[in-house]
Amino acid sequence: MYTTFLVLALLGGLGVHFWWQLRYGRLARQLASERRVLAESHKQQEDAAAQKQAEQQALFNSMIEGVLILDGTGHVQLVNQALRDFFGLQTDVRQQTIMEALRLRQLNELVHRLPAERIVQGLEIQLPGVNGKWLEVNAAAVLDRAGTQRGAILVFHDLTRIKQLENTRQEFVANVSHELRTPLSLIKGFTETLLDGAKDDPAVAVQFLRTIEKHSDRLTYLIEDLLTISQLEGGRVAMSLHPVELPEEVAGVIGDLQTRADQKSVTLRNEIPAGLRAQADAERLQQVLFNLIENAIKYGRTEGTVVIGSRLVGGERVEIWVRDDGPGIPAEARERIFERFFRVDRARSREAGGTGLGLSIVKHIVQAHGGEVAVRGEVGQGTTFAFTLPTVPSAEPDPV
Ligand code: ADP
Repeated sequence: MYTTFLVLALLGGLGVHFWWQLRYGRLARQLASERRVLAESHKQQEDAAAQKQAEQQALFNSMIEGVLILDGTGHVQLVNQALRDFFGLQTDVRQQTIMEALRLRQLNELVHRLPAERIVQGLEIQLPGVNGKWLEVNAAAVLDRAGTQRGAILVFHDLTRIKQLENTRQEFVANVSHELRTPLSLIKGFTETLLDGAKDDPAVAVQFLRTIEKHSDRLTYLIEDLLTISQLEGGRVAMSLHPVELPEEVAGVIGDLQTRADQKSVTLRNEIPAGLRAQADAERLQQVLFNLIENAIKYGRTEGTVVIGSRLVGGERVEIWVRDDGPGIPAEARERIFERFFRVDRARSREAGGTGLGLSIVKHIVQAHGGEVAVRGEVGQGTTFAFTLPTVPSAEPDPV
């Protein structure tokens, strides 16, 4: 009896065990598998979040605008790479105040205006230091649903290039006005003197009229040069490139300037070898040669010599140079000589009827040919202006 009970209890226990295993073992496996699926999806979500964050970070750092984010207590939370570059930040500025991080009173004031104004746009600041970068700052308060300020975002836009262009434009307008005003006031002055009675003395009248004529010519040259510069700078002049015979072009320009050279007893020597050609716009090339040879006569020595020569540079370029034996150009002026309106001796240039634009035109034309222009020579040892032009492509037949 006791044994039967024991066997029954054992069987019962085994039954319960198998039932338990069957029911809860499957459940446990199911649970474990679900846990695995959950862990996997959690990891995928984490990866996706990390990926998204990396993308946002890359976007943030690749922006050309500088961005700075402040938290609710006015401390820097985040800055992007452009902002670090603008301000030359070498260290981590997070958790610093804007004054500690960027050391600019104007920005500090801007941040303090935000609680009241919410958005501040178009503040222009110039950074201290040698590069003097100009930045435009737009700032906005970050608000929560209740309208309480929780931080601020400042966006910085680099205005330096625009400011430089604006300065150049203003300087150009000021220079042009000055250049126009000078001959105009002289013309007006001499005309008034003539009308006031000088006209009655024929010798004086002729002298004054000649001066008026000279200054009217200067005005004409100035306007012509200004138009040329504006066309060249606007890229509106298409160079019509053809093979040109260099010795002939130089001879033509020498012919045009011979009288001017004779007036100063200057000898003009064309040393370009016969048959040398370049691929150039003949009319524009003449303008370059005219400006350089005219300058060499104007600023060179009385009874001096001007030589026009050439050499081949590396098979694909020909260099043409105009050399005088005049006073030369000081080194510091040589660096600026191709700038518009730059003159070494302002009075002398004006007296000679110069516009201050000749070399600038030369530079533009040469560059439009894909060439380069340079000035050489020491003070007291004359000046050499040299420029390069492309040689005639081999497909073009050479003259026999
Ligand atoms: P400009 O109309 O005054 O001649 P350019 O642009 O042709 O204007 O020349 C600029 C300045 O460069 C001149 O005013 C002159 O001072 C200087 N310059 C040009 N060529 C020579 C030269 N061959 N020798 C000395 N100075 C020169």
